[in-house]
Amino acid sequence: EAPAPLLAVRDLHAWYGESHVLHGMDFEVRAGEVVTLLGRNGAGKTTTMKSIIGVLPQRRGSIMFEGRETIGLPSRRIARLGIGYCPEERGIFASLSVRENLMLPPVVKPGGLPVEDILALFPNLKERAASQGTKLSGGEQQMLAIGRILRTGANLLLLDEPTEGLAPVIIGEIGRTIAALKRRGFTIILVEQNFRFAATVADRHYVVEQGRIVDRIANADLEANIDKLHAYLGV
Ligand code: ATP
Repeated sequence: EAPAPLLAVRDLHAWYGESHVLHGMDFEVRAGEVVTLLGRNGAGKTTTMKSIIGVLPQRRGSIMFEGRETIGLPSRRIARLGIGYCPEERGIFASLSVRENLMLPPVVKPGGLPVEDILALFPNLKERAASQGTKLSGGEQQMLAIGRILRTGANLLLLDEPTEGLAPVIIGEIGRTIAALKRRGFTIILVEQNFRFAATVADRHYVVEQGRIVDRIANADLEANIDKLHAYLGV
């Protein structure tokens, strides 16, 4: 029998005010997997992440994490179960040093990495541990945003378009970081529009369109589905 998924999203609906944005999302992620949500702008990927971490109050359906229902829990409680969110806008504190930024998020669960271990995972950040957030490149800010949630003890990491706006060489580094995190046992949900990048890091992909999962593709089958993906993503 297959193990229970780490996260199981069932018939998830979400609203912004009157605007009904998610229309019955269904997907699951097993422990240790890297899974992407692929889809164009406005498909509902970020809204799905926000629903998982509980910052969107108007949700309906079921989001089970480690066998426990999280719909109805406040976001602080959900964070404490071990779900870490890395937003698209990164949220680095410009006036704080790299080390101080790493120290900021509260530890929610045992098993978080010590700051020195995080710096060891990101050699660029280690060199700049005393630099202010403002002095960092976009790629370094993204690394810092990921590094920051590793200290909290979260075992499920939600990464919202980590490659957005970054140069190809930096995107490669982000890919290596994600692979290193997978080797360390983290489970990752990655929101992406760049399926070329997604193919280098993920085990499986879900395609999101108009607030629904419209396709699921194993990474090994991505090439065979390339025309379909172009159509989904409008590229
Ligand atoms: P993107 O890459 O642009 O973030 P996405 O797939 O993550 O795309 P969402 O940000 O989840 O898409 O947006 C889904 C839908 O919800 C879109 O139609 C968007 O306009 C709408 N939406 C997003 N945020 C809000 C908000 N705060 N208030 C009202 N509508 C919103």
